[in-house]
Amino acid sequence: MSGSLKKTGAPSLEELAASPAFPSEEQFKRGPVAVIECVEEIPCNPCESSCPRGVIRVGEPITNLPVIDLDGCVACGACVAACPGLAIYIKDYTYGPDTASISFPYEYLPLPKAGDVVEVVDRYGGTVCKGTVLKVRSPKAYDRTAVVTVEYPKEFFYEAISMKRLAC
Ligand code: SF4
Ligand code: SF4
Repeated sequence: MSGSLKKTGAPSLEELAASPAFPSEEQFKRGPVAVIECVEEIPCNPCESSCPRGVIRVGEPITNLPVIDLDGCVACGACVAACPGLAIYIKDYTYGPDTASISFPYEYLPLPKAGDVVEVVDRYGGTVCKGTVLKVRSPKAYDRTAVVTVEYPKEFFYEAISMKRLAC
């Protein structure tokens, strides 16, 4: 499936590429980076104060779309857990010769665990491939939003954004 945010509820790759915080292909190929998929002008800015490196800026008015200085991003994941819109990931195109990795927010129980094989989903909730959980982080500072890291085939690099919820 593809289409615009207004038609489908999820931004197309073209809309994302036109937004001020989406990395270029060249930036993705350098290594792990934060990916901010925030394309609607809403009053929101926790991402700005969450970054220990101070590289995310919303500024005034608060409805500005976030911008990021990717050269200063160390892919720590703090902004991933802080975004109430679940709109930030860390993606690493360089993870392996044939695999990429993604760290995404996950607010369901049960949590997956390292080694689990999971279904990786796209922006519409459809399964795109299988992936293997590398780690699950849920420190107190993340306030009950876990950050799950999954390795998956590089050919699905752009489509992947999360994993299918596990059965209780
Ligand atoms: S991943 Fe870490 S360093 Fe990079 S923008 Fe997010 S909070 Fe800042
Ligand atoms: S916290 Fe998330 S939803 Fe809010 S402005 Fe930042 S990226 Fe957008």
